[in-house]
Amino acid sequence: MGMQAQAEKLNKQFSNSTAPEALQYFCTQPGQKAVFTTSFGLEDQVLTHMICTWVPGVRIVTLDTGRLFEETYQLLDLTAKHFGIKIEVYFPEQKRVEEMVNSRGVNLFYDSIENRKLCCHVRKTESLKRALAGASLWITGIRREQSVTRYSAPLVEWNDQYGLLKLNPLKDWTEQMVWDYIRLYNIPYNPLHDKGFPSIGCSPCTRAVREGEDLRAGRWWWEQPENKECGLHIYAKGKDKSV
Ligand code: SF4
Repeated sequence: MGMQAQAEKLNKQFSNSTAPEALQYFCTQPGQKAVFTTSFGLEDQVLTHMICTWVPGVRIVTLDTGRLFEETYQLLDLTAKHFGIKIEVYFPEQKRVEEMVNSRGVNLFYDSIENRKLCCHVRKTESLKRALAGASLWITGIRREQSVTRYSAPLVEWNDQYGLLKLNPLKDWTEQMVWDYIRLYNIPYNPLHDKGFPSIGCSPCTRAVREGEDLRAGRWWWEQPENKECGLHIYAKGKDKSV
C-alpha cells in the first residue's frame, strides 16, 4: 500500500480519536522519529503541554526567522522554563539572508508576492528542511478553521516534500476549545493575543485584526487570502487532497 493510501486508512481509523490519543499512537510507533514544530501560537502551546504530558521526549523545534516579535522570544524562553524542556532553535543560513537583503532590500516582502515568498522560503522553509531531516513524523498545530488555506487539513497525511507523515492533532479544534485548554492548565501564551493578534508570525508581516475579521487576516494583510501561507503548510483549494 502506498504512503498516501496508508494515511487515508489511518484517517478513517482515528476519525474519533482525541488529540492525546492520536499523539500517543503515532509518536510511539516502533522506530518513529517525531518532531513538533512550534511558533508559540496558542495551538502550539496546547500541543507543547500535551506532548510534555503524554509523549515526553518528542523533539520540539522552532524556526527563528530573525524578524520575530520580542514577545515571541520572551515566550520561547518562558515556555522552555515552564515545561522544563529543551526547544531546538533553527536559524536561516546567514549567506542566503545576506544575498536576499542586499539584492532586494530589508523589507522586500512588501514589494511583491514573489519577494514575500522568497523571504519565507529563505527564513523559514530552508530552516524547516534542516529541522525535519531524518524525521518520520511531523506534528503541527494546524486547525481547519484558521483560514481558507487550511480548511481541508486532515488528521494525518503523507508529505511528499519531506518524505514523512504529518500529524495535525488539533485540526477540528475551535478557537474556544484552544482558549479553554490554555486557561484550564494555566499555560503561558503570547501577550499579543490579548491585543488583537489571533495569529502571530514575523513582526513586519503581522498586524492586529479588527472585529469580525478572519483569524489570519492580520498575516500578510496586503495579500489575498488564498496566498496567505509561507510554504510550510499547503492544502488543496476547493477539495480535500488527502482524505
Ligand atoms: S513572514 Fe515576512 S519577515 Fe517572516 S519570513 Fe515571511 S516574508 Fe519574511
